[in-house]
Amino acid sequence: MKVLVIGNGGREHALVWKLKQSKRIEEIFVAPGNAGTEKLAENIDIEATDINKLIDFVKKEKIDLTVVGPEAPLVTGIVDAFEAEGLKIFGPNKAAAQLEGSKVFSKNFMKKYSIPTAKYETFTNVDNAISYIKEEGAPIVVKAEGLAAGKGVIVAQTVDEAIAAVEEIMVNEKFGEAGERIVIEEFLAGEEATVLAFTDGNTIVPMIPSQDHKPAYDGDQGPNTGGMGAYAPAPIATENLMSKVYQEILVPTIEGLKEEGIIFKGVLYSGLMVVDGKAKVIEYNVRFGDPEAEVVLPLLKNDLVDVIEATIEDRLDQVDIEWLEKTAVCVIMASGGYPVRYEKGKEISGIEEAESEDIVVFQAGTALKDDKLVTAGGRVLGVTALGNDYQDTIDKAYEGVKQIDFADAHYRTDIGAKAIK
Ligand code: ATP
Repeated sequence: MKVLVIGNGGREHALVWKLKQSKRIEEIFVAPGNAGTEKLAENIDIEATDINKLIDFVKKEKIDLTVVGPEAPLVTGIVDAFEAEGLKIFGPNKAAAQLEGSKVFSKNFMKKYSIPTAKYETFTNVDNAISYIKEEGAPIVVKAEGLAAGKGVIVAQTVDEAIAAVEEIMVNEKFGEAGERIVIEEFLAGEEATVLAFTDGNTIVPMIPSQDHKPAYDGDQGPNTGGMGAYAPAPIATENLMSKVYQEILVPTIEGLKEEGIIFKGVLYSGLMVVDGKAKVIEYNVRFGDPEAEVVLPLLKNDLVDVIEATIEDRLDQVDIEWLEKTAVCVIMASGGYPVRYEKGKEISGIEEAESEDIVVFQAGTALKDDKLVTAGGRVLGVTALGNDYQDTIDKAYEGVKQIDFADAHYRTDIGAKAIK
C-alpha cells in the first residue's frame, strides 16, 4: 500500500521509520517532511495544514492511508475533510480534537466527567482573572485557551508573574485568538508522566508509559520547550498507577466523549502529574507526543499499519499489542538559544557515525542546503538508544550525541536520570 505521513518533526521521522519496517507498505510520502524523512520516503512540498492540497495529492497518487502527526491539522478538521471524500486517515475528528484544541473544553469536560485534574477557573475578562489570582495566591498556572505550540502555559511562581502573564495573553494578545479565553489553575507539585493510548472509540490500549523533559536546562531549570528528551518505560507509572489511569482517566474520557456524541479514534495523549501516587490530567493531546513518539514507537513490536487499520476499522480488540522488554532514551539536540532566539543553517556532521544497531537519530529541524545537512529549527535531532537497563541506555544515547556536531548545539545532560533515582 501507499502511505502519506503529515508533519515535519522528529515524531514524523519516527513514524516514517516505524512504518518503513512494515512489509505491507510499498511507498511512503511525507508532507512536508524534513531531511531525515527524505532518506526513507519521498517528501512532498505541501504544508501540514493545507488540507485541500493534501486531498488533491492523495487522490492523484491513490494513497491508501494517511497518518497525521501534528495537532494543527487535526484541530482544524483534516480527518472530517478526508472522510467526507471517502479517504482513509488515522487520527481523531475535529470534535474529538477539541480535547487538545481548547483548554476550556477539556477542563470543563474533565469536571463534568469527574476526571482528576487541577482545580481551575476560566476567564474572558482581565480584571476578574487578576482578582482570582490575588485570591488564590502563587504558585499558580496561567494558560491561553488555544494552541500556542507549548508556549501558552506560564507556571508563575509569584502573583506578579501570574498577573504579567494574564496581561501578555489578554491585553498584548501575544497568542492572538488562542488567548481570548484563559484558564487559571492550581499548581500541582509532582512528577510528570505521559500515557499514550491507541483507541478506536471502544477499546483502549495504553502504550508503554514515558516521560518527557520540558524545561530547557539540566535539573528542570529554564523555560519550557517542546521537550528536550524522553525515556520509556517511566518507572513512576507503576502497574498499579497504570491500572488507576485506565479506570479513572482513559475509560471515563472515551466514554464521556461518547456521551457527548463524539467517537475518538487515534492516539489519545494524557499528560499526567503524579502526586502522592495519584495521577491528575495536566493536559490531553490528540496525537503522539514529540519526543515521546521517539521512545515509544521503537519499543512497539507490532506492524504499525496493522494497529492503525484496526483502530480506524474499530477492531482494536482483536489485535495483541506487544512491546520489547527494553528501555529507550531519546536526547534532543537543539539549536543554542532555543526556545527563545536561535540561528539556523549550521552544518551538521556525525549522524552516520552515531547510528548503530541500537542507536537511531531522528531528525526534526533539519534541511538540505547545497547537499549539506543543516539545522533548520529549534529542536534539531533526537538521538534515541535502545538498551537493557536505564543506565546502559542513557550511556548509549550520550555516546551517540558525542559523535554529532553542529555549531552552538545544546542538549540536556540528565535525560533519563529520574528513572534511576
Ligand atoms: P504541550 O507543548 O505539551 O502541548 P501545552 O501548551 O498544551 O503544552 P500544558 O501541557 O498544559 O501546555 O503545560 C505545559 C507544562 O507546564 C506541563 O508539561 C507542566 O510541566 C507545566 N504545567 C501545566 N499545568 C500545570 C499545573 N497545573 N501544575 C504544575 N505544572 C503545570
